Amino acid sequence: MPGKHDRKVIITCAVTGAIHTPSMSPHLPVTAEEIADAAIGAAEAGAAIVHLHARNPEDGRPDQTPEAFAPFLRVIKQRSDCVVNLTTGGAPTMTIQQRVAPAATFRPEVASLNMGSMNFGLFGMLNRFRDLKHGWERDYLANKDIVFRNSFADIEYILTTCAGNDTRFEFECYDTAHLYNLRYFLDQGLVKPPLFIQTVFGIQGGIGPHPEDVMHMKRTADRLFGDAFRWSVLGAGRNQLPIAAMAAAMGANVRVGLEDSLWAGPGRLASSNAEQVRSARQIIEGLGLEVATPAEARKILALKGGDRVAF
Ligand SMILES: [Zn+2]
Repeated sequence: MPGKHDRKVIITCAVTGAIHTPSMSPHLPVTAEEIADAAIGAAEAGAAIVHLHARNPEDGRPDQTPEAFAPFLRVIKQRSDCVVNLTTGGAPTMTIQQRVAPAATFRPEVASLNMGSMNFGLFGMLNRFRDLKHGWERDYLANKDIVFRNSFADIEYILTTCAGNDTRFEFECYDTAHLYNLRYFLDQGLVKPPLFIQTVFGIQGGIGPHPEDVMHMKRTADRLFGDAFRWSVLGAGRNQLPIAAMAAAMGANVRVGLEDSLWAGPGRLASSNAEQVRSARQIIEGLGLEVATPAEARKILALKGGDRVAF
């Protein structure tokens, strides 16, 4: 957990992801221009880090080619000094080689890294969203056979592919076993502290969103990593802000964004990523804490700097 010296709270905003589909919300960024605007808006609202995926501009399908990332990366770098974090999760339908390509190409300061294989159930959302515009959406969401594969070999492949680039990682842990997997890589010397651990709650297939789940992940991380990690939380869907509030009071950094939740309140779609960042900021400042600037986040996470990326 963060020590006295870095009580600033880092807000990460994950602006589009690969879980939600365009028919679910008109505010989900799809085109490169929409993704750039969403990221810059989130940064202006107080996000120190933006976590990015790309989509096909025609139908919103997840697109993990470096060519899909290039246009918005350029714009974001020109217009903001926020830390850019690129996904290596992509979508559960992609190969590990496809998934690492954007991070390997653009050498960002941070890349996400999923720390274990898991079932991945998006089918629950079909009950809430019945009217889907694009053919791919129903097939993608209805699939009860998805295993999000992140074997030890896969994780090692991503770590070694990015090893020469000084890219650091947002270690996404969806269950306690994922923390143990990370501890294995620490023992092997393949990852270096301070570890930025994103504990994820409320995805069908991962640990639940109960406060006891949050406590258990925190206790386990404390036991395995001591002061060698910086903790962040991500609550999926309606759990986004309650978990942010609980964990921020316990020393966590927080992640929000339309990748993780489309909502601003019960039955009310968020009109932008920035709106969720403002809500997170309100909670953090209401607790008497301060939001980290990008420069402060770089220091807290020991990042290489925005001038040392390849975009
Ligand atoms: Zn993501």
